[in-house]
Amino acid sequence: MTTAMKGQHGPAGSLEELALSKLDSLQRSDRRRSLRTMSRRAGAIVNSGTAELVSFACNDYLGLSHEPDVIAASIEATRLYGVGAGASRLISGNHPLYETLERRLAELKSTEDAIVFGSGYLANVGVIPALVGLRDMICLDELSHSCLLSGAQLSRSALMPYRHNDAGHLESILESQRSRHRRCLILTEGVFSMDGDLAPLPELAELAARYDAWLYCDDAHALGVIGNGRGAAFAWTPPAHVPLQMGTLSKAAGAYGGYLCATRAVCDFVRNRARSLIYSTGLPPGTIAAAIKSLEIIASGPAVLDRPLALARLFTRLTGLPDAVSPIVPLIIGDSRATLEASAALERRGMLVPAIRPPTVPAGTARLRIAFSAMHGEDQVAELARHVRELGILA
Ligand SMILES: *Cc1c(COP(=O)(O)O)cnc(C)c1O
Repeated sequence: MTTAMKGQHGPAGSLEELALSKLDSLQRSDRRRSLRTMSRRAGAIVNSGTAELVSFACNDYLGLSHEPDVIAASIEATRLYGVGAGASRLISGNHPLYETLERRLAELKSTEDAIVFGSGYLANVGVIPALVGLRDMICLDELSHSCLLSGAQLSRSALMPYRHNDAGHLESILESQRSRHRRCLILTEGVFSMDGDLAPLPELAELAARYDAWLYCDDAHALGVIGNGRGAAFAWTPPAHVPLQMGTLSKAAGAYGGYLCATRAVCDFVRNRARSLIYSTGLPPGTIAAAIKSLEIIASGPAVLDRPLALARLFTRLTGLPDAVSPIVPLIIGDSRATLEASAALERRGMLVPAIRPPTVPAGTARLRIAFSAMHGEDQVAELARHVRELGILA
């Protein structure tokens, strides 16, 4: 019997063999992941099987996903308009609520216009390839989120990663490479999702102006918690000039969906070109209504906006770490197995703190990622700090 005739047992092995051998190698390097069922409740509590845990594992920084007014808005829109959008926004899925949502986003970000996508991931893989292509270059922070990289790869532009938050390194790349390419995009996160630090946006904006490049900031972890809720560009005085402000409605806004805030012309162009907008179904009306209500709450500037960062600072003070600058505090351990063990030890004490391993973070930098939310009490933060000290996690 020839190899071809053996069908599934070709030279590359069977589908089963592929899956099992790959899973085995992930297991051996402590990189295998699995889905756990978690039921989230108000007040930063999750139920996992029989255990009830205090969660430091959630991006719902303001607790808006459980805010009664947000829930009510979502239910009412669902009753009125149904569960699903039924079609792409460009066909018949462009629900009237979109106009309100996009106006609210543009107001919050002080831009002319905004365009809402199905998710933050879809925004990044749609917008980036709409703006740059084969003859262009993209400089991106080496710690950029995976979907920024996916968008950059889809664009087929030349990719030039620069060292994390290192404007000097970015400048040297621009100096030697910029003239060889037509257009240039600089990609960064505003608050880095796994490190919690801020990008030096004013310096990046200055380089963008000097080298004729466009600055694109992914504000997923800044909206609602940094810059009086308006995002990372507004953490600076005067605010940094960021012509492309992208983000998500799934974190502090507590709902779902992604967005780009920019000029009217840029948004209109993206509406015409972004494949992930054109060829994907619109958001459910209930989700749009929830996001509108959340943005209304954020824009009203309640005191609660400062709480996640204040709690993160309380934690860093209690543990002797450098002052937190965002609600995300990483405890870098290095080894994946040791990180998994630290996470399990905290869980035995009732605290859910996820282990983040490569390839989400660079090799050798596995960490616990602590996310503080307005829903946490000071007592819960102090308790977490005590457990971290007692378990010798920072030693
Ligand atoms: C979560 C996240 C995204 C993706 O947003 P979704 O709406 O969840 O798809 C994009 N960028 C960054 C930096 C993120 O942390």
